[in-house]
Amino acid sequence: VIQHPKIDRDRLLSDLRELAEIGKDGTGVRRPAYSEADIAARHWLAEKFRTAGLDVQIDRVGNVFGRSRVSRALLMGSHSDSVPYGGWLDGSLGVIYALEVARALSAAGVIGAVGVDVVSFADEEGMFAGWFGSRTHCGDFDDSVWRKFWNAEGVLLAEALEAFKDRQRSTLDKSRNFGYLEAHIEQGPRLEALGKPVGIVTSIVGIRTCKLYFSGRADHAGTTPMPMRKDAGKHLVALLSRLCARFKEAAGEDTVWNFGNIIMKPGAANVVPEHAELFVQYRDSDAKNLQSFDAILADEIRAANAAEPNCCSMSSTMATEPIAMDPHFRQVLRDAATQLGHACEDIPSGAGHDAAAVGMHIPIGMLFVPSIGGRSHTPEENTADEHIVAGAEVLLAATQRLLESDA
Ligand SMILES: [Zn+2]
Repeated sequence: VIQHPKIDRDRLLSDLRELAEIGKDGTGVRRPAYSEADIAARHWLAEKFRTAGLDVQIDRVGNVFGRSRVSRALLMGSHSDSVPYGGWLDGSLGVIYALEVARALSAAGVIGAVGVDVVSFADEEGMFAGWFGSRTHCGDFDDSVWRKFWNAEGVLLAEALEAFKDRQRSTLDKSRNFGYLEAHIEQGPRLEALGKPVGIVTSIVGIRTCKLYFSGRADHAGTTPMPMRKDAGKHLVALLSRLCARFKEAAGEDTVWNFGNIIMKPGAANVVPEHAELFVQYRDSDAKNLQSFDAILADEIRAANAAEPNCCSMSSTMATEPIAMDPHFRQVLRDAATQLGHACEDIPSGAGHDAAAVGMHIPIGMLFVPSIGGRSHTPEENTADEHIVAGAEVLLAATQRLLESDA
């Protein structure tokens, strides 16, 4: 008998709170990738998926899947790892939503030829490598990276993955998964300011992250005359001030950039810096603006090296292109929100998500719910219960439509 599928509000909220107990740290969670708490959360999820009647797989890199017993399915989920002092909803919300949608559809007898596959991707937050689980599942990373990436504690990725050494690999099956739908907290203040419970994501920004290295020579800062110094710090500061001016000039309306760290070594007031590092990141949903920033950066590095040979070099740690949401997925999300009477707003995502990795291969859609005070990546992160429930209802209605339109 087919009934009208319904979100079980109490089950949804209590599962989210139960997951937040794993690695709990005050009002937030500490579940950095492959920590004890992260692995425990993955096993907890696997059990939940099993109880929901889904076929469970934990793969070779810790991605957890709960698959419907059908040959075609919409992939849904997010991640359950966190930043070191993270909030309880970042990632977890999308995974528990997907689980709840799968349970609601199956209880109502809706899943026929087309079902849903629930996933929690590993290391979305990039403790070792950004979107590591989703990019590996999509075939965009090979095993050579296991020996190239470390976390901040100096643990090699290959060592961290020992916990899953008996597991099978997983590969995105495009003939099975016709799309990927991810819900997430907004992590910014826009929806709250608009007083709307649902955001329909239009695109995910492209992100460039790089480090600039400056070299000089350590000398006594009192006895070495100014013209005879090779000062790595001086080069860094000069280049940084030019970047500040030129980035501002070239920026589009929504371009954001950040100089997140400066390191000077040996790092003493009386020693001329021998080595200096500058962390640079910029993001935009318009590829043209990213390219103008790329060009400015290359130009300034060239100019610095022309003035002082080999004083500056760069290594890129991430370079992703902006990615648009599938128009059909957007429309279905919008229709679902409208049908349920939840006000919604088109909104670009300034944060990266697993959807950006999966979206290189299959159509994607994303839904946001408001973050109280716009706060995220902090234990203060929170969303009103009524908004959590509203988001799940919209996701359920949208999923049902997507399954029907594919069947
Ligand atoms: Zn996240």
